[in-house]
Amino acid sequence: MAIIDRYDGLLIDIDGVVRVGDEFLPDARDAITELEARGLPYAFVTNSPRLTPAEHAEELRAGGVPVPDGGVVTAAETLISFILDLTGAGIGAVVVGTDSFRRQVAEAGIEEVALDRWEDATAVMVSGHDRFDYGELKAAAMAARAGAVLAATGSDPTMPMPDGHWPGTGSILAAIETASGAQATVTGKPFPAIFEAGLEAIGRPGKVAMIGDRSDTDVAGAQAVGLDGILVSRPESASAQPGVEGVDPDHRIGSLLDLFS
Ligand SMILES: [Mg+2]
Repeated sequence: MAIIDRYDGLLIDIDGVVRVGDEFLPDARDAITELEARGLPYAFVTNSPRLTPAEHAEELRAGGVPVPDGGVVTAAETLISFILDLTGAGIGAVVVGTDSFRRQVAEAGIEEVALDRWEDATAVMVSGHDRFDYGELKAAAMAARAGAVLAATGSDPTMPMPDGHWPGTGSILAAIETASGAQATVTGKPFPAIFEAGLEAIGRPGKVAMIGDRSDTDVAGAQAVGLDGILVSRPESASAQPGVEGVDPDHRIGSLLDLFS
């Protein structure tokens, strides 16, 4: 029995599974095209805060990957919901992240405070970006130390790129936690909020698996909320993640096409 025949729906990680950096993996593109042809409900679930869900969908489609309507769920959305549930709209936050992330925060009714006005922040919202600097670290850490809620899209220390592991949100968050003495709430994988949002996106069919390239976030997080976890590891890849002790994926595959065999 093919792996795919065991499931009524799939949640699929993007980075390291469908794409590495800007490069789409041809196997993944073919496999997802086949999923679409079979009518199996699926959605992409990503901790990547780089783009809005609509921008992610556009980028995937431009790479030849079919995306259902509403078929991308991001950790930025779950982080914004978490902060709004806790504090309500109209609050001020120190925001660390890409322009796209900051735009999403602003559109949700959360005001970004200037870095030198960190005293006005009731939240510190953290998401990885490649221009992180000392001024952001200082404002985020001082606000969190003074009692602002500290929350982040992810805790992955690295992200897979064609030339190896680049520092991820977790590395930036670790600097802020170290400097502030505060501990963040994380809303992305492996924590439950984002899996719940993914299940909602595919209409909660019967048996669902999460497919990802990290056993500590994708597989362990899925299993903790009662889903199966499928680990993709491409042995030839510089981005291949080592297994994690105590995590036992329900299936291990080398390519998304292995789902059909
Ligand atoms: Mg990944």
